[in-house]
Amino acid sequence: LVSRLPQVGTTIFSVMSALAAQCGAVNLGQGFPDFDCDSALLDAVGQAMRAGHNQYAPMAGVPALRQAVATKIEATHARPYCPEAEITITAGATQAILTAILAIVHPGDEVIVLDPCYDSYVPNIALAGGVAVRVPLTPGTFRPDFDKISAAITPRTRAIIINSPHNPSATTWSEGDMRQLQDLLAPTDTLLISDEVYEHMVFDGATHQSAARFDGLAARAFIVSSFGKTFHVTGWKVGTVAAPAPLMAEFRKVHQFNVFSVNTPMQHGLAHYLQDPAPYLQLSAFYQAKRNLFRQGLEGSRLRLLPATGTYFQCVDISAVSDLSEADFCQWLTREVGVAAIPLSAFYGDGFDQRVVRFCFAKQDDTLRAAIERLRKL
Ligand code: PMP
Ligand code: GLN
Repeated sequence: LVSRLPQVGTTIFSVMSALAAQCGAVNLGQGFPDFDCDSALLDAVGQAMRAGHNQYAPMAGVPALRQAVATKIEATHARPYCPEAEITITAGATQAILTAILAIVHPGDEVIVLDPCYDSYVPNIALAGGVAVRVPLTPGTFRPDFDKISAAITPRTRAIIINSPHNPSATTWSEGDMRQLQDLLAPTDTLLISDEVYEHMVFDGATHQSAARFDGLAARAFIVSSFGKTFHVTGWKVGTVAAPAPLMAEFRKVHQFNVFSVNTPMQHGLAHYLQDPAPYLQLSAFYQAKRNLFRQGLEGSRLRLLPATGTYFQCVDISAVSDLSEADFCQWLTREVGVAAIPLSAFYGDGFDQRVVRFCFAKQDDTLRAAIERLRKL
């Protein structure tokens, strides 16, 4: 058998979670909460199951959930999406991104990704027969370099994938950044996949700059989000895509033969739970407190904290602690210190090693304190 993905092994998230479990380490590697979701959400799903919502959902998603998602986007970003034609419920953001790529990328098409990027993008592009064009974010700051992005656009460019708030760097794009992207794409046919799974985790009073807020971006964008992140249920694998009707029509052609539809009772439960905006409106403050606890705990340690303006990740520079490569350091830290982390090099095409690793702080305060105690000894 000739592999479709010869360069690909097992994801770093699976590898580090397995090692953390094997070593009994505090797992700040793979991004997921170690606490449960709101019991009201569990009740809503239980009620949906007992009410008999246990057969196939409509292909594009349960209508009440699509309506709730459209209402939420309009309330948050002042852009109306038609729930019938422009919103689809997916099996997590992972399936949404793959499906969007399969729907638009023809063999030989180029897709621009910004390095470091989430690890599914490039294999997804390869599966579609496309060519990933990796444009680096500025080393050190992770800022987009619009001259470099502009220079990467060719007549073969089908799409660009962006991700703010950004995994793994925990940086966010400003309104000015989004406007620059809009201006840059204006004279092109380039489509946009905007991965906004951390949309409700932006700190210090900033506003999430969704592609939905910008006419010239929204008109060409698949906007992807994930209830796994927003409601602390990564294991449910329910996500959303919003896109203009012509793009969504193509998306659904693939979606129907990819998963067909997504688990029904979760969709009903989420539709009910979304009626109250408080849980997602409070999420930034909830995670900002955890970010602050984690950062304050590490202040004065030999790990140098990088700025963290969004997501539930904190990056640290390890150069004062170790000469090991990022990947070796994460192995050592898990085995010897008892805290798991993710090397940033895993998010680069060329394995670029800048001596920075990522911790996930979506953890109970006691978990964070246990990790801090170990990390302060470094
Ligand atoms: N994109 C990014 C940037 C992510 O961090 C994640 C979650 N790890 C995903 C997509 C996938 O989200 P989901 O779990 O909903 O598939
Ligand atoms: N998104 C999570 C992270 O970045 C992991 C998701 C996964 O394991 N696929 O850690």
